Amino acid sequence: MAWLPVVIKACYFLAALLFILGLKHMSSPRSARGGIVWAGFGMLVAVVATFALPDMHHLGLILAAVLIGVAAAWWSGRRVAMTAMPQMVALYNGMGGGAAAAIGAAELAGYAGNAITLLDGGQFTASGAASPGTAQLALAVLGALIGSVSFSGSLIAFAKLQGWLDKRFTFPGQRVVNLLVLAAAVVLGAMIAGGQLSMPLIAAFFVLALLFGLMMTLPIGGADMPVVISLYNAFTGLAVAFEGFVLQNEAMIIAGTVVGAAGTLLTQLMAKAMNRSIGNVLFGSFGAAGGAAGQAIGGSQKPIEASDAAVMMAYAERVVIVPGYGMAVAQAQHKVWEFAKLLIERGVKVRFAIHPVAGRMPGHMNVLLAEAGVPYDLIADMDDINPEFPNTDVVLVIGANDVVNPLAKTDPSSPIYGMPILDVAAARQVIVIKRGKGTGFAGIENALFYADNARMLYGDGQAAAGQLVAELKALDG
Ligand code: NDP
Repeated sequence: MAWLPVVIKACYFLAALLFILGLKHMSSPRSARGGIVWAGFGMLVAVVATFALPDMHHLGLILAAVLIGVAAAWWSGRRVAMTAMPQMVALYNGMGGGAAAAIGAAELAGYAGNAITLLDGGQFTASGAASPGTAQLALAVLGALIGSVSFSGSLIAFAKLQGWLDKRFTFPGQRVVNLLVLAAAVVLGAMIAGGQLSMPLIAAFFVLALLFGLMMTLPIGGADMPVVISLYNAFTGLAVAFEGFVLQNEAMIIAGTVVGAAGTLLTQLMAKAMNRSIGNVLFGSFGAAGGAAGQAIGGSQKPIEASDAAVMMAYAERVVIVPGYGMAVAQAQHKVWEFAKLLIERGVKVRFAIHPVAGRMPGHMNVLLAEAGVPYDLIADMDDINPEFPNTDVVLVIGANDVVNPLAKTDPSSPIYGMPILDVAAARQVIVIKRGKGTGFAGIENALFYADNARMLYGDGQAAAGQLVAELKALDG
């Protein structure tokens, strides 16, 4: 069957096109769902084509693993709450890094086995590649190192976000110890790439690489976890691409490179939206318990009843709704949209304003609003909406805190100083829905809640939005 390799290559090419098409579609919320389907279809094509490779053995085992993986992913994917999505991504990403590292391990072990066979005067049997060149060994080692770090690091990120591990774990001299572990892993990796293919050396290299992933992630605060996960996502892509070179598998090279590039861009975007450098995320202390003492805030929080808040907005000309993490927790998006529709029916101009890091992952709010059916043309991003706040009669903030905190502009000692925010305080009136005096992700007070033009509508997001709907209906009725 001389044509089979050509068909497999053609399938990989098709899969690569589908990955890129999928990613292109994911750049807009309108087409993102379609993008997922295109990329998923690409993955299916690549997986099916791989079964036709000439050297495939243990088909029963592979099929069993695929079935278990599909069932677990299907079950967990359907059950996961939107608020638990970041840890879910961490887990899946860790699996990708682990798979890349496992390929590296299998290849290196194969080479080591061959080397032993050769010494015995026998033939190469264990691996596809007869005698690996230094470049091939180096790529296998590099992929294994990055994949292992991504695997163990992602598992720690998952455990932290799931609340199974303390937010931060530090000890004196930690950075030096981490650096030594990394240096030792790199030295062993270099020895392996240089041709010292002994099993104890390979095993020690993997132990150190996995240990470095753990130790690098343990001291990072919970607040930075989504950025770290995105960084590990880029690592996983790179590891897969390196191992793709080792296996000479084009689909892996392209998919890995695409994931690596997309993950790197996403990491940069998140860090920029928080006004942090990647180095500060990895080695800074943001999100540490307690937060900074910060500027003292004068004044008091002034409560408002739902009925008054509803009247205020019913007779406004322009209302901007700012959702945040609390809306996701309360699953209030449907009630919020119901309320917005009632306002629109009354002739109020309503828009939604989304901060790039509102919620706990990029696009978190966009997904929730899309799920509730909010049309995309009513949703504005930060740069577009900020100049409009001075002409806005009422801003309704629901479950957002850090992303509307004016201290980010005024208090240089604040951990969020420099982070771009939605300038809601510039509007005529601000109504804030939240349960009480709880802080946001950064763990700091918010000067907006004490502002003269701000009123607090205390309560769970969904219940409060429901009250607003009822009050508005009562006004009309
Ligand atoms: P925050 O986490 O700052 O604030 C959420 C607020 O919601 C809290 O103050 C809480 O107050 C309130 N809340 C919680 N539960 C409910 C509920 N059931 N009903 C009503 N209110 C509720 O959210 P933001 O979206 O403003 O900010 C996101 C933060 O996450 C930023 O600091 C950002 O840097 C960070 N982050 C975001 C990432 C992303 O990619 N989106 C990634 C990494 C970090 P109370 O307890 O009083 O109700």
